[in-house]
Amino acid sequence: MPQKNVIMQSTKKIALVAHDHKKDDLLEWAAFNQETLSRHKLYATGTTGWLLERQLGLEITKLQSGPLGGDQQVGAKIAENEIDFLIFFWDPLEAQPHDPDVKALLRMAVLWNIPIASNRASADFIISSPLMNAEYERRLTDYEEYRQRLSKVYGQ
Ligand code: PGA
Repeated sequence: MPQKNVIMQSTKKIALVAHDHKKDDLLEWAAFNQETLSRHKLYATGTTGWLLERQLGLEITKLQSGPLGGDQQVGAKIAENEIDFLIFFWDPLEAQPHDPDVKALLRMAVLWNIPIASNRASADFIISSPLMNAEYERRLTDYEEYRQRLSKVYGQ
């Protein structure tokens, strides 16, 4: 398959999501990295975003709460190139009512080749990368050929 590059700007569009038992972890991590995070554009699912705004005063675009569709909104933004990377502290010890949405969100992040941090150690590595403050060319499969093949099959 042919490849193409998508530019990530030096100011990143970051999505933050944490399941209930992981929210304290994310809040602590975000407090430690508050100054860095404040230089980027932040999105979050409803409750996570509300907590981050209240405790850290960060400016955040808040989507729906995860169980009400927030994870799907983040996934859609990834597909529309509106999110550059995902900090998603999901709970490995508890099933969620919206587990299919969680799986779909992680699938979108892999498909569109954006970095994902699922725990604090990976979040630490991502946020301390020199690429945080630089442009980055994200390599993607170019699906144009696939789209054209489909439109020939269906005569569009
Ligand atoms: P919340 O959603 O931030 O609204 O709690 C997170 C999630 O469960 O995906």
